[in-house]
Amino acid sequence: MTVTDLVPYEDALASYDPVMGLEVHVELGTKTKMFCGCATTLGADANAQTCPTCLGLPGSLPVVNAIGVESAIKIGLALNCSIAEWCRFARKNYFYPDMPKNFQTSQYDEPIAYDGYLDVQLEDGEVFRVQIERAHMEEDTGKSTHVGGATGRIHGASHSLLDYNRAGIPLIEIVTKPIEGAGERAPEVAKAYVAELRELVRALGVSEARMEMGQMRCDVNLSLRPNGTETFGTRSETKNVNSLRSVERAARFEIQRHAAVLSSGGTIVQETRHFHEEDGSTTAGRIKDNAEDYRYFPEPDLVPVAPARAWVEELRAVLPELPRIRRNRLREEWGVSAHDMQSILNAGAVDLIVATIEAGAGSAAARKWWMGELARRANEDGVELAALPITPAQVARVAALVDEGSLNDKLARQTIEGVLAGEGDPDTVVEKRGLKVVSDEGALGAAVDEAIVGNAAIADKIRGGKVAAAGALVGAVMKATRGQADAARVRELILEKLGVEG
Ligand code: ADP
Ligand code: MG
Ligand code: ZN
Repeated sequence: MTVTDLVPYEDALASYDPVMGLEVHVELGTKTKMFCGCATTLGADANAQTCPTCLGLPGSLPVVNAIGVESAIKIGLALNCSIAEWCRFARKNYFYPDMPKNFQTSQYDEPIAYDGYLDVQLEDGEVFRVQIERAHMEEDTGKSTHVGGATGRIHGASHSLLDYNRAGIPLIEIVTKPIEGAGERAPEVAKAYVAELRELVRALGVSEARMEMGQMRCDVNLSLRPNGTETFGTRSETKNVNSLRSVERAARFEIQRHAAVLSSGGTIVQETRHFHEEDGSTTAGRIKDNAEDYRYFPEPDLVPVAPARAWVEELRAVLPELPRIRRNRLREEWGVSAHDMQSILNAGAVDLIVATIEAGAGSAAARKWWMGELARRANEDGVELAALPITPAQVARVAALVDEGSLNDKLARQTIEGVLAGEGDPDTVVEKRGLKVVSDEGALGAAVDEAIVGNAAIADKIRGGKVAAAGALVGAVMKATRGQADAARVRELILEKLGVEG
């Protein structure tokens, strides 16, 4: 099927009701792997971070990472789940070269967390509750690189390289119950859910959840049923979607594709699908294995996980404020619209603004610099705001210099530019570049006199009552002082000297 065979989105929704299921894998930020002591740092040489256990060598034995379990419980609690009193790991058996043990240590019918929900806020402010089926612990696989072919795929490759550094890195898989009732907003709900989950795990401090680096990825299950019916249709499962935008596009595409198949009398096959970034389409992967094909059985080499209730309650007591609640609180404190808050969020500026306020800046100034000048610079350089070489404390210092009248807006921007260029702290940049506002009244007075003499015609107009013309003289003085004068004070001086009332 090509993209042109799709049913228009609105038409699909006129006949069918979408049901979704989202499976999100979160890579935990633990220092060591889930079942061995190997390091998890990125960028190491291939296979440098491996040992007999994560390579699946005979005789090696796994040991559970306590921080991995703790992180799973934190996620479960934040998702309003029940935490199992007793649960086990299970072996999920399948053969794949990047999985050296030939089974993945996972959890099957005994997940550590189950039956929860996550409230997500849609763009118009409406809150949609997504029911959570389970959150369970498992491990990541290694990575294969196919060499010698044109496409980087295995077909046509001369050989493949295997890197097991990622094998055994802890993952938490979070599975929703079927999401019903979202209707035409299903793709938006999917995106908002993944976004909220990302904020949540970051707030919990268990993962950086950088989707572009594969630290968080989403499988989008989708089926359609005729409007007004109850029984679920057959689902497709689009695997490893790795950006928020792609989650939304994948759901939308599948709605349109399913509708095309169903309305022409065809049947949907239960299969995995690949998402294509370039055009937002999906193509068929493999026919979906049933659970029995995996021959799940309890992992005999690991003891059951039975988290003490006191520990669970300790973790519950120190859960951070949920991102959605925090966002709404900050929005009120800052007095910004839902739309502006969304932009701040999209820009990744919330924590930077909070830190800048904590360093002494007013909230308006903090927002102004991060969302204005700095967002522009980040955009130009193609980096995240947080990656700019300027700290919230430095931004707060610039704001303070503006407040005390030492810098005007233009000079403040030049100061920021200097900090970004590595010239030092704001005070050092101001000093080195000589950026302080000219507040020496004598020098300012002389510059004003000069401007009046040099623009006699304009000065006459002002004397005659056209106060609005003063702007031109202010401009002349600002130019003469290389922007280092306080424009408001310059205007006062001009009117004073010309004997008119402001
Ligand atoms: P699998 O391991 O085969 O992917 P799971 O039960 O782990 O199966 O996950 C399937 C996901 O799809 C869950 O989120 C589930 O709620 C959802 N789901 C199940 N059946 C359907 C369906 N018919 N249409 C849409 N989503 C479904
Ligand atoms: Mg699945
Ligand atoms: Zn290891």
